[in-house]
Amino acid sequence: MAPKGKGKVVVISGPSGAGKTSVCRALKRSPEVVFSVSATTRRQREGERDGVDYHFLSDEEFLARESRGEFLEWAVYNGNRYGTLRSEMDAAIEDGKTFIVEIEVQGTRSLREAGFEGDYIFVVPPSMAELRRRLVARGANSPEEIDARLAIAEAELKAKDLYDHVVVNADLSQAIDEASSLIGL
Ligand code: 5GP
Repeated sequence: MAPKGKGKVVVISGPSGAGKTSVCRALKRSPEVVFSVSATTRRQREGERDGVDYHFLSDEEFLARESRGEFLEWAVYNGNRYGTLRSEMDAAIEDGKTFIVEIEVQGTRSLREAGFEGDYIFVVPPSMAELRRRLVARGANSPEEIDARLAIAEAELKAKDLYDHVVVNADLSQAIDEASSLIGL
């Protein structure tokens, strides 16, 4: 399955805290790039903007959209639903842009299983200890949430084979350079 249009899709994933959001934030500066704004049912964090960081939906709204076939992929992560909206991708690809989706591993697996064409990039931390340190430093999650995210991360790291490229984020600016050149920006 290939997206229709002149653009292409880049799938970026990696464990929470690996730095993929920071990598993506830097890639966003390119005018050739359009970023997917996912829908989610998780609570809005301080500083997040609805429609910019995510489309924050109730469970009912999310399921209604899912039943209308509006999602390219979706998954449950840590008890909340997250999904990529087809409409956003179609517009970007039609426009000849590079459409970047930042998703977790189950979503990547469904795209792979559907034979969805794209560049698949996995951003990983240099170690689990460093991942814990970053999650704590970020201050966005409770200790229980951090433990849950680390357990998910252990499982996610085993899914490396789903990806075309693995970027080890030991140094953020190097990781950004590596991801940019992989995508051809
Ligand atoms: P967070 O709650 O930290 O914003 O995101 C949790 C996880 O959900 C991250 O790994 C993030 O990449 C992933 N995620 C965000 N949007 C989507 C999406 O549309 N689909 C899937 N499958 N995962 C997503």
